[in-house]
Amino acid sequence: MQLIWFKQDLRIHDHAALWQAHQAGSCIALVVLSPEQWKLHNDADIKIDFYLRQLQQLKIALQQKNIPLIILTIPLWKDIPNKLLSLCQHHNIQAIHANIELGVNELKRDAQIQNLLEKNNIRFELYHDRTISPVGSIRNKSELPYQVFGAFKKQCYEKLSISLPQCYPTIEVQNAIPQHKDFAKEVPIFSDIYPDSEEKVISENTQNLWQIGEHHAWELLDEFIANQVEHYHTERDFPNLNSTSKLAAYLNIGILSIRQCLQALFRHSHGYMEFENNGQQIWLDELLWREFYQHILFDYPRVSKNLPFKLDTQRIVWRNAPEDLHAWQQGQTGIPIVDAGMRQLLATGWMHNRVRMICAMFLSKNLLIDWRLGEAWFMQHLIDGDLAANNGGWQWCASTGTDAAPYFRIFNPVSQSQKFDENGDYIRLWIPEISHLDAKQIHEPYAKNPQLKLDYPKPIVDLKSSRMRAIEAFKHLS
Ligand SMILES: Cc1cc2nc3c(=O)[nH]c(=O)nc-3n(C[C@H](O)[C@H](O)[C@H](O)COP(=O)(O)OP(=O)(O)OC[C@H]3O[C@@H](n4cnc5c(N)ncnc54)[C@H](O)[C@@H]3O)c2cc1C
Repeated sequence: MQLIWFKQDLRIHDHAALWQAHQAGSCIALVVLSPEQWKLHNDADIKIDFYLRQLQQLKIALQQKNIPLIILTIPLWKDIPNKLLSLCQHHNIQAIHANIELGVNELKRDAQIQNLLEKNNIRFELYHDRTISPVGSIRNKSELPYQVFGAFKKQCYEKLSISLPQCYPTIEVQNAIPQHKDFAKEVPIFSDIYPDSEEKVISENTQNLWQIGEHHAWELLDEFIANQVEHYHTERDFPNLNSTSKLAAYLNIGILSIRQCLQALFRHSHGYMEFENNGQQIWLDELLWREFYQHILFDYPRVSKNLPFKLDTQRIVWRNAPEDLHAWQQGQTGIPIVDAGMRQLLATGWMHNRVRMICAMFLSKNLLIDWRLGEAWFMQHLIDGDLAANNGGWQWCASTGTDAAPYFRIFNPVSQSQKFDENGDYIRLWIPEISHLDAKQIHEPYAKNPQLKLDYPKPIVDLKSSRMRAIEAFKHLS
């Protein structure tokens, strides 16, 4: 008997480990729920809820293939190896098949499992599935990993122009497996696994924003490729336009695969990398940013241990300013574009990429607060929270990472707001207190009239002097 272990890859189509397990013989599926570990990793409630909802769909989809699903709850990963071993012995498993996960704790956990299973003559087969190219395979002429996106992207383009990765075939229905009590467990809902949680249960309205199911993800992808991707290069930076794919949440828990995205993107060129428009190319570049940060996480594991990529930036003296941090978290900084973004995050579990950059730079530069506090807050609230992309995004904005923004190029959030939300529509959506202000005033309500009476805070920091303070803090590093 083969065991297919689902992790951040909750789908039955185009799935490396499922395909291989199925080729090897009759399969049972496994998922491990680790509520305490997820919290240690700052996974957002909305993301966990999304995961559990998708798991219900996966269980049904597997049933239709006659593959029963075992659901184990093992709060912390350190306890997984022994529990997996007894499960394998109980069900007479010859091999566990799983896709590789790239975080340090994940790799350590899987190495321990491998070690224990091998001693007991059970194979543990791991497959590359999450990235376009296997991690560790994109190297420069000196066989070293790339540290700069441009050069990394060039090599990816070269590889993709030779051939695009193909999707795995759909697996067939297997012969039914005799019933067992381990197969009977229902997928829990969020409040089952966090009964004491003081957090609110995710509302139905929020859940409706993020519908689950592979078919739903394909519909979103098809719709985006058919109608939006050609405008992506000109529209993607404007947060009031619904012009990005919103697929990160689906990619990150694996409802959708990266290969499916590439195949959809190049559908009209019969699976060859030929661009019909600029939007297509820029969207591919975004998928490659995702790829880049996954490879960085693998090659430089320190980034997942709370260390900056650029080690000299450890010397920066960050401000200890809990009140400012709280104002930023709650969307009460008095800088409308920042507050709009932070409120969008709290309300929907998602924030537009341009605004993520503005909010992250504001925290790490204007407020000079440690980027790691912002990274954790984003992770605790994003439905698409992903260690590699979140860390990469934060370190880029804080000028501590690969390819990072030079420390002296600090976004002015007001100019960004005037440029990318010219009429203030995005701000109006999220900050009703100032929605009556006109397009000139809304970006900095108190600029012309500091005495204006509004139910909205004044800026908690002066943008000019705080910019200079950040430059000073970074300047001394070099
Ligand atoms: C401070 C900060 C934190 C971020 N945290 C995350 C995170 O936790 N998880 C996450 O998936 N992305 C993160 N991003 C990247 C980006 O903001 C999101 O991927 C994007 O906004 C998701 O929306 P979308 O699916 O509509 O993207 P689209 O614009 O449609 O892009 C397509 C896909 O490309 C990938 N992508 C796009 N931009 C980036 C990028 N800059 N870095 C890595 N991958 C990218 C995503 O998988 C995305 O779904 C972060 C960016 C910043 C600046």
